[in-house]
Amino acid sequence: SQHHLIEENPAMPRPSRPLMIVVSAPSGAGKSTLCNRLVDEFPSVKYSVSCTTREPRGEEKDGEHYYFLSKKEFKERIKNGEFLEYAKVHGNYYGTLEDTVLYAMEEGSHVLLDIDVQGAKQIRESLVRLDLRHPIRRGFTDIFISPPSMEELEKRLRGRGTDEEKVIQKRLENAAAELACRTEYSFQIVNDDLEKAYRELKTVILSGIGLG
Ligand code: 5GP
Repeated sequence: SQHHLIEENPAMPRPSRPLMIVVSAPSGAGKSTLCNRLVDEFPSVKYSVSCTTREPRGEEKDGEHYYFLSKKEFKERIKNGEFLEYAKVHGNYYGTLEDTVLYAMEEGSHVLLDIDVQGAKQIRESLVRLDLRHPIRRGFTDIFISPPSMEELEKRLRGRGTDEEKVIQKRLENAAAELACRTEYSFQIVNDDLEKAYRELKTVILSGIGLG
């Protein structure tokens, strides 16, 4: 409940103007670690659960980490105009349902979108089309998380040990192109030190909420 949220964290009150937070990074930059910490610390920040056509990895659960859809189901939803944004990433489709984001914001949550650079672009474009008084338009921030270097990124991707070599190669190829898009974001955080990067992420988000 609303009261519960305020009690749980006085530094992050229930939002009157929910913030849409877009976070992008090449895989292996430490984005998941940083974002997980954020939603754990601040109950008013909720993940937007995306749809994807890729196979579940490890312990991933449908409806929790992703909505795992067949290609046919995904394309049907594209046709129906259900996506706020979608893109093909590393050979699979990923997309954010408009309903998912709007529902979370109507409930009074800040919503965190962990999406790629193509999706972020589409969202920026749709913000311009939206009415200025729309809560999404009023509370929006986008953050790019960079790895300290390409060498470090490769090391991290291999160390993770969850992906096949073929998949790692594909992700490395995409990383350079993704890094080139970092200047499109309002904020950039270089994750060379996890504690420092997390402090910076919190500062950006608290200032977006209006308490910074
Ligand atoms: P993974 O397969 O490792 O979970 O995610 C791969 C990439 O897809 C990540 O960079 C992630 O940010 C991106 N991604 C996840 N969900 C979405 C989404 O809904 N839309 C877009 N455009 N990208 C997404």
